[in-house]
Amino acid sequence: GNFEELGLNDWILEHLSQLGFTRPSPIQYNCIPPILEGKDCFGCSKTGSGKTAAFAVPILQKLSEDPYGIFCVVITPTRELAYQISEQFSIIGKPINIRHAVVVGGMDMLEQAMQLEKKPHVVIATPGRLADHLRSSDSTVKLNKIKFLVLDEADRLLDKMDGDFANDLDVIFETLPKDRQTLLFSATLTDTLNEVKQLSTKKPFFWQS
Ligand code: AMP
Repeated sequence: GNFEELGLNDWILEHLSQLGFTRPSPIQYNCIPPILEGKDCFGCSKTGSGKTAAFAVPILQKLSEDPYGIFCVVITPTRELAYQISEQFSIIGKPINIRHAVVVGGMDMLEQAMQLEKKPHVVIATPGRLADHLRSSDSTVKLNKIKFLVLDEADRLLDKMDGDFANDLDVIFETLPKDRQTLLFSATLTDTLNEVKQLSTKKPFFWQS
């Protein structure tokens, strides 16, 4: 298949072709249309399969149609992954001047708080640090109107569900609105599927490579 079949706008089609994205990978071909239609999506595929663009592309299209405060939160298990995801959002979202913030441990809390106050379109975070910001009494960050929640490497996120991570994720999920789209990507989904089902408020589109 090709990108033209997926319901994408001209600006993003032209930009993808400039970036050398000539053909959608299977996860992109299968998951972009249901995400654009407003469905929740659970995609199961390995790293390197193009899964970041599979969620970044439709989210950026929706954002370009409806500019907004904090529009999307991406939760990922490690700092490295957070930076990789932020890089793809800024590259693919360049034509619409996407503003994003990376909220991970090991960086200055105050500086992150200032970035969050500027209402970036996309917040890419590890659970612990984002939960710290939400728990902080002088925090003004509000995630109660986001349109998209992405759980990246969900199997790794949920593997750690028994300790502090579970608590951190609870703090985050509590603040999120019910009428959002939830997108979940994972290398394996077998064991975690039951736990994550409750995170989806709608019947999700499920895709496995
Ligand atoms: P990911 O699996 O999301 O980590 O992506 C792996 C790499 O493939 C990233 O560097 C992307 O920029 C690149 N990529 C993703 N989709 C495509 C595509 N359709 N055509 C060419 N490169 C792509």
